[in-house]
Amino acid sequence: MTYSEPARTTPRRVPRILVAGLPLVIAAIGAVLGYQLLASSSSTTASPTDVLRSEEHRGALREHGALGAPGALGERSALGEPGALGEADGAVPDGTTVFDDEIPGVANLDPALLGALRQAATDAADDGVELFVDSGWRSPEYQEQLLREAVSEYGSQGEAARWVATPDTSPHVSGDAVDVGPSDATAWLSGHGAEYGLCQIYGNEPWHYELRPEAIDHTCPPMYADPTQDPRMQQ
Ligand SMILES: [Zn+2]
Repeated sequence: MTYSEPARTTPRRVPRILVAGLPLVIAAIGAVLGYQLLASSSSTTASPTDVLRSEEHRGALREHGALGAPGALGERSALGEPGALGEADGAVPDGTTVFDDEIPGVANLDPALLGALRQAATDAADDGVELFVDSGWRSPEYQEQLLREAVSEYGSQGEAARWVATPDTSPHVSGDAVDVGPSDATAWLSGHGAEYGLCQIYGNEPWHYELRPEAIDHTCPPMYADPTQDPRMQQ
C-alpha cells in the first residue's frame, strides 16, 4: 500500500451543514480524477484520490466504483438524498463511528464483529487514530442498487463483480463486513486488526474488514486479490 498521508490540518468531522454540499464536491472530484483512475488501471489500492481528505471517508464509494463515474448515482444514494435509499437501508452519514448504535448500518452488524470493531476503535483512539464507518450492514435493496450502478459504470457484470457483490453473496448484507476509513484508520487496522480478529479480505479493498476470530492466534488468512477470487462469490 502506498497511501500518501497529507498533513492533518482539516477537521475530522464534517459539520452536518456541509454534508448537503458534499455530493457536488465529490462529483467534481470524480469528474477531475475519474479519468485518471481509469487510465491507471494497474493499481486499485492507491489512487490520486487517496490524498484528498474528503475522499478518505469514501472508501465505500470507491468500493462500488462511484468515483470513476462523474455524477454516478452511488454518490447521491450513499449520502441519502431524496429519492434514494437511506439510512434504514444501510447508508451511513459522514462521520459515523462503530459506536453509533442508532444508525442501522452499524446496529445491524454482527454483534461479534461490532464488538471487535469497538475494541479496536478504542485502542486506535489511544494511538490518536479515529476509525470511521463508511459502510456496514446494507439491505438487499441497497446492495442491489449498488450493483446496478456498478454494472452501469463498468459496462459489464464481470467487471462490476470485482467490486460489488450481489445481495445474495455480499457479506455486507449479512452484517459480516464493514468498510472503514480514513486511510490512517485502515493503516492502523492493517497493523493491529488481527489482534482483534479483524482481517482485510480483498487485496483491492484496503477498507473492507471482516471478523476472522482465528486470526487472533494465527494472523489473518491470505487475501483474495479481489472478490471474484472469493469462493463465497461463486453462487
Ligand atoms: Zn466492503
